Amino acid sequence: MLIDVRTAMLLTAGITFLLSIALAFTLWRQRGPQRRAAVLWVYGTALQPVAWLLLGLRDLIPDLLSVLLGNTAICLAYAQYSRALHAFNGNSGNWQLPNWIALSVIAPVAAYTWPQSNVPMRTVVTSTIVLLLFLIATYEALRAPRPRSASRLITASTFLLGALLLLARAVFEAVNPAPLTSGMASTPMQGLMFGYAALVPVIATFGFVLMCSEHARAELEQLAATDPLTGSLNRRMLEQLVTTQLAEARRRPRPLSVLLLDVDKFKNINDNFGHDVGDMVLKAVVAASRLQLRPGDLIGRLGGEEFLIVLDDTGEAEAVQVAERLRAAVAGLDLGEGDYRVPLSISIGVASRKSERSDFGELVRRADRAMYAAKSAGRNRVVTGEIEMPVVTVVH
Ligand code: GH3
Ligand code: MG
Ligand code: MG
Repeated sequence: MLIDVRTAMLLTAGITFLLSIALAFTLWRQRGPQRRAAVLWVYGTALQPVAWLLLGLRDLIPDLLSVLLGNTAICLAYAQYSRALHAFNGNSGNWQLPNWIALSVIAPVAAYTWPQSNVPMRTVVTSTIVLLLFLIATYEALRAPRPRSASRLITASTFLLGALLLLARAVFEAVNPAPLTSGMASTPMQGLMFGYAALVPVIATFGFVLMCSEHARAELEQLAATDPLTGSLNRRMLEQLVTTQLAEARRRPRPLSVLLLDVDKFKNINDNFGHDVGDMVLKAVVAASRLQLRPGDLIGRLGGEEFLIVLDDTGEAEAVQVAERLRAAVAGLDLGEGDYRVPLSISIGVASRKSERSDFGELVRRADRAMYAAKSAGRNRVVTGEIEMPVVTVVH
């Protein structure tokens, strides 16, 4: 079955016209850092009806419009897809390389059109440039940590398959014993190429829209799980994770300990240095704590200036050592500007899983009691249900 090239081009013009209207309504409303990527994708799609209309009217309108402008427009359209994916990956939306590659189609296409039209060579040139743009888009779609999402794989494979077809076409037309006499010739290779070109915007856009929605969902999950000021987990998420860990510890017995941290005299820090400095102190405490923890340990904010650290597979004695390291690290922080120093220390209560019945609430209550014991004993210290650590005076 042969696909008529002109029909395929005009059909693609119609499809991409409708697609760009639908996209303009959905992607355009995207907010945040992904907005630039969405806008570039809309540009890429909206350029295609123009390009395919010009290409599809070959021989009916001047070559300047159909051949030169049409080919430049389709290359620029695909360039916007690569740029959109580049921006989606967190890079600048002003990346110009794909645009330059697309514009480099102008000179050779003109040279193979005037004064004498050389359709096979023009086909080789345009195929090679679009091939390059598709390879960039494939690379950008795959540039994400593993496991790559299905949406990225859909987008990447659409462009990769297009690149392979273009490679086949460029090689085929370069050596074809019966060279193309017209860009509109409906040969099987032409039909395959332009039939696929109609699918590219639809499937790639499907992949890209999925990528956007996956990204938005991940962001919402992140927002729902963390405390915006310090980036540590929020209480709800912490409770959920600890409950899972405790359930696992019941199935395969292992120790688990929690440390409850409270910043000493935090109200004074706020009163003396202002709320902004108070906020900065909270961030610094979380950052300093993270440095002392293993990758799998959890840190979350229970509220105000109280944080809970969860050490899975860690018994009480080891947890006390970690707590002591943390206490010393925070007491050693040198926060302040110029002449003023912010006096900073934390008190820590430690509690360990004692029995099958230990749950989040019970662990926090015990750690809280130990933390208050540390406050009563003079602050800047670590206390467990059983052991009180000796006070270590930190000399600044
Ligand atoms: P103690 O050593 O007994 O723990 O004394 P404290 O002053 O740290 O304890 P208190 O509970 O009296 O004060 C906690 C203060 O934390 C009061 C509240 O205004 C402040 N606070 C709570 N959340 C935040 C926050 O997000 N940012 C800032 N800057 N302050 C906060
Ligand atoms: Mg406090
Ligand atoms: Mg407190």
